[in-house]
Amino acid sequence: MFSEQKRQIIEYGILLDRYELVSLTCGNLAIRMPTGEILITPSGLAYDKMVEDDVIVCDIDGNIIEGERKPSSDTPAILYIFKNRPDINGVIHTHQPYATAISLIPGLTEFRVCFTGMANTCCGNVPIAPFSPAGSVEMGKDVIKYCTTARAVILSNHGVMTIGPSLKDALYAAVYLEETAKGYLAARACCPDGKTNEMTDEQIDQMVEVFKYYGQGTPVIPTDLVKK
Ligand SMILES: [Zn+2]
Repeated sequence: MFSEQKRQIIEYGILLDRYELVSLTCGNLAIRMPTGEILITPSGLAYDKMVEDDVIVCDIDGNIIEGERKPSSDTPAILYIFKNRPDINGVIHTHQPYATAISLIPGLTEFRVCFTGMANTCCGNVPIAPFSPAGSVEMGKDVIKYCTTARAVILSNHGVMTIGPSLKDALYAAVYLEETAKGYLAARACCPDGKTNEMTDEQIDQMVEVFKYYGQGTPVIPTDLVKK
C-alpha cells in the first residue's frame, strides 16, 4: 500500500541526513494521502536502513492500518497538525543544529528572513516557539499556533517542524531554513554588536511572491514583480 510515497519518505529521510538536518535516527517525516491515510516513519530506525515495510500507515486517530513497527514517538504531534490543518499534507521534524541555535539567542521570538531562499521556501519569517518536551503533542500545537503563514517553526532547545502542501515543500523549508541560519550565525559572529544587515519587509514579501512562479508547471515571473 502506497509504495511510491513510502519510498519518497525514505528518500527524503536520507536527504535530511545528507543536509545534516538530523543525526543517526532522530527526526521524522509524515505524508497525508488524498484518501486520508497517514504515512509515518518508524521510531528509532536509521533512514538509510529503512525499507518500505518499516513505514507505518495509520488513520487520523493513530490506529495502525499497515506496518509492524512502532511509529515515531512524535506521532501525537503529527496527527494533531493533520487534524487541524487540512491544507497540510507533509510534515517533517528535524534536529537541525543551526536553525535550533537561533533559539538560544536571548530575546528573539522569530528568525527574520535574511536570504531570499528562506523567504521563498519558508513563506516568510520563521517563529520561535518556547520549549516543549520531545514526544509531546505540544510540538504539534506549536505548529498550529505559530505557523499561520510560515511553513516552519523553531522549537526552542530542540529542533524544527516544517510543513507544506506536500512533503517536498516541507523538505525545502527545512533545507533553506538551515542554510540561512548558517549564514546568519556566521554574519552575526562577525558583528560586535550582534546586529546584521536586514532585508526589508517589502523585499521579503516580494521574494515570497516570486517563489509562486518557481519551477516547472508555473507561469514565467511577471516583470513587475521583480522590479527593484
Ligand atoms: Zn525531536
